[in-house]
Amino acid sequence: MTTVADGLTFARTLSENPRSAAERAEILQNPGFGDWFTDHTAVIDYHDGAWHDARIEPYGPIPMDPACAVLHYAQEIFEGLKAYRHADGSIWTFRPEKNAARMKRSAHRLALPQLPEELFVESLRQLVDVDRAWVPDGQGESLYLRPFMFATENFLGVRPSREVTYRVIASPAGNYFGGEVAPVSIWLSEQYARAGRGGTGAAKCGGNYAASLLPQLEAEAHGCKQVLFLDDGAVEELGGMNVFFVYADGRLVTPALSGSILEGVTRDSVLQLGRDRGLDVQERQVMIDEWRDGVESGQITEVFACGTAAVITPIGELKTERGTVSSPASETGGVTMGIRGQLLGIQTGTAEDTHGWLTRLV
Ligand SMILES: *Cc1c(COP(=O)(O)O)cnc(C)c1O
Repeated sequence: MTTVADGLTFARTLSENPRSAAERAEILQNPGFGDWFTDHTAVIDYHDGAWHDARIEPYGPIPMDPACAVLHYAQEIFEGLKAYRHADGSIWTFRPEKNAARMKRSAHRLALPQLPEELFVESLRQLVDVDRAWVPDGQGESLYLRPFMFATENFLGVRPSREVTYRVIASPAGNYFGGEVAPVSIWLSEQYARAGRGGTGAAKCGGNYAASLLPQLEAEAHGCKQVLFLDDGAVEELGGMNVFFVYADGRLVTPALSGSILEGVTRDSVLQLGRDRGLDVQERQVMIDEWRDGVESGQITEVFACGTAAVITPIGELKTERGTVSSPASETGGVTMGIRGQLLGIQTGTAEDTHGWLTRLV
C-alpha cells in the first residue's frame, strides 16, 4: 500500500474487457450527456487519517455494505470539469486548480478529508491518459470528468466517517441542451429553496441536488427546462447553474456570493471575460423584481445561465405562479454569445488563453 505523500504514484490495473474501437466510435457518434462511461476509473482511499492506494482500475460496480454511511446521511461531495481535445490532438482541461480548491472547501463543509490539489489534478491526468481515446473531437464535445468523494464506513452513528473514498469517472459529452443554442424557459420556485443561510449551498454536494429535484419536476410540469431559486426575493441561482444579467448601459450583473450560492468556475471566468470587454461588472444582490422590471423596461437586454456542463445558455422567459416575465429583448444576445464563443474558444484551443486557464493533461 502506498501512503500518499510526495512522490505518490498511481498503480494501474487496465481493463481486461475494454470496449472495442467500433463500440467506442458508435457511442462517440451521439454521446448525449452522462449516459456512457469510459473503461477506467481513478480511486484514492482514505483511512487511518491519510490518503492511500492511489490507482487506476477498470470501471465497474462498487461493492457496498447496506450500512455504508453515505447511504444514510449523504456525506458526499463532487466536482465537474471537462477535458477538451485540441486540433493537434493534445488534451487540456480548464482551471482544474479552481475545482480542486472548491472540492477542499466542500470537503470542509461536509466534514470530509481534504484531498491535496496536486493529487486532484494528477488523478484527472492519470484517468485521461488511459482513456484518452474517449475524448471526442467534435464541435462543442468534450470528456466530462466527475471527481467525487463519499463516506464508506459501515455504521449508523451520526459522526463523520473515518473511511472515505475519492473517485473520478469520465463520460463523453455532446452538447448539453442538444444542438444549437436556443433560449431555455425557467420556472421560478417560490415554495422551495435549495439552500439557506449557514447551510450547504456553497458546497458542491449531492444533497443540494436532491433538494432541487422536486422543484425541478415542478418546472418540467410547467414546460420549463430549469428551476430558479430565490432567497427572500433575492435571485440565487438555478439548480446547477449561476445566472447573469446584461444591461443596455453596459453593466454585467450576477448575484453576489451569499454563502448559499455555489461559486462556479464558469461564473468566475465570465466575470473576468466581462471585465476584459470593458463591461461594468457587478456582483451584488439582484431582487426578482429587478429582473421583471428590467426586462419590461428594456434595461435588461439579455439573461443567461452558466456552468461547466452547459457552458453558457441564454434564458428566455421566466415563468412564475403569478404570470410570465417575458423574454428579454435580445434572446440570444450579443454579449451572451460573444462571451460564450470566447470561453469555448479558449477551452477548445481556438482562442488565445490570455489568463493561463488551460492545463495540459495529455
Ligand atoms: C456546479 C454548479 C454550478 C456551476 O459551477 P461551474 O464550476 O461553473 O461548473 C452552479 N451551481 C451549482 C449549484 C452547481 O452545483
